[in-house]
Amino acid sequence: MQEKKSFLKQKIDWESPNKNIVPITTSIGSDGKLWIGGCSIEELVEKYNSPLYILDEITLRNSCRAYKKALEKYYPGKSLPIYASKANSSIFMSNLISSEGLGLDAVSEGELLTALKGGVPNEKIVFHGNNKSDKEIEFAVRNNVKVIVDNDYDLERLEEISTSFNHDLEIMIRFTPGIECHTHEYIRTGSFDSKFGFGIEYLNNLFDRISNTERLKLKGLHAHIGSQIFELEPHNDLGEIMVNVILDAKKFGHDIQELNVGGGLGIKYTENDDPPSIDEWVKTISTSVVKACEKNNLDLPTLMCEPGRSIVSTAGITIYKIGAFKKIPGIRTYLSVDGGMSDNPRPITYQSNYSACLVSNPLNNNSKSKYTIAGKHCESGDVLFKEIELADCNTGDLICVFGTGAYNNSMSSNYNRIPRPAALLVCDGEAEIIQKRESPSDLLKYDVLPDRFIKQN
Ligand SMILES: *Cc1c(COP(=O)(O)O)cnc(C)c1O
Repeated sequence: MQEKKSFLKQKIDWESPNKNIVPITTSIGSDGKLWIGGCSIEELVEKYNSPLYILDEITLRNSCRAYKKALEKYYPGKSLPIYASKANSSIFMSNLISSEGLGLDAVSEGELLTALKGGVPNEKIVFHGNNKSDKEIEFAVRNNVKVIVDNDYDLERLEEISTSFNHDLEIMIRFTPGIECHTHEYIRTGSFDSKFGFGIEYLNNLFDRISNTERLKLKGLHAHIGSQIFELEPHNDLGEIMVNVILDAKKFGHDIQELNVGGGLGIKYTENDDPPSIDEWVKTISTSVVKACEKNNLDLPTLMCEPGRSIVSTAGITIYKIGAFKKIPGIRTYLSVDGGMSDNPRPITYQSNYSACLVSNPLNNNSKSKYTIAGKHCESGDVLFKEIELADCNTGDLICVFGTGAYNNSMSSNYNRIPRPAALLVCDGEAEIIQKRESPSDLLKYDVLPDRFIKQN
């Protein structure tokens, strides 16, 4: 029988981590087991327990550098990659991102605070959101953070608050360019029917209104057309559309200096996925903007892009311990792990697929069994893998799920009062904690029993 080639045998692309399923430093140790960042996964679980989130520093840094390098290579004007922090927000991530010279996008006071505490300079932060609270806007204004205006209500309050603070506020306008792309409906944002941004047909009216405000300084335009996109065409179209909007704004006296083209580049979760490289993606959008500017005799604006998933997803893995098995003869075998939809809500939310292996047998030698990997939550839909081929495994074995760096930790919950996992950073054989494991008693911190319910003795 011919051995199936394991995805762990694939050649690693160092330049564009989103084209790999596994972190760059993944290896099989002399013990035959899975190692990442020079650390034995089995030893890390012995020390830090499971489930466990792990981030590989080299993969993270290579992803950041790939965006910087490609922008420098293909875009002759100024440029700035901005990390979409909703993918994975922490003081550590903010710190790493700013150490690589990237900017950061935030969507709440919490994400803003995390960015500032992590050392991201305020002038490299942009603040998004389709329903910012007054308190959030005030926080952004006080910290001199550029704000992306999403709708009329947003604009009214930005105007009001900046005026009452006697404070000039730099803004960018988010609009929907009317581009369809093939991705899950919930993560598609660029078509006309989207909750985000102004309709493109409304922009002239908006430019006029902004001219009449006192404190709002229109610096740039923003569009984000969706997430986990494998096509290049939508971003090729986007560049030209955005440059045309710069020309429209000119007629109203606005000198747009910044174009933020959003994020959306997909990553390789499974062997069926073949995303473009970071280099190709940046080349496409850069070329499109440069061409459109040349055609219209326009100075090049500063080009910004907002990758989230393609910066952090491939750098991250999650380790689970196998507990219960349930064989339903003729149907399937359920294998349950010690986490699930609370640490990774993507499968139940988007029917997302991942790749996984056993830590003790990463190449899946002699794989002959198919399993359904279930989480431990009280939902039948709490299934991480509908069907996966693994070598025979037992209670106590560890499973590594790849590509979990983005939208896992940041979308995690305490459903069923399950504490969030710890998160580690690995590099050169060292592992460091970047997020402490929650404990059940931590989850009681915000519960309040009104006095009259407390039994008096
Ligand atoms: C989510 C989001 C991004 C990042 O998208 P990815 O697909 O993770 O690259 C960028 N910009 C905005 C406005 C977003 O909402």
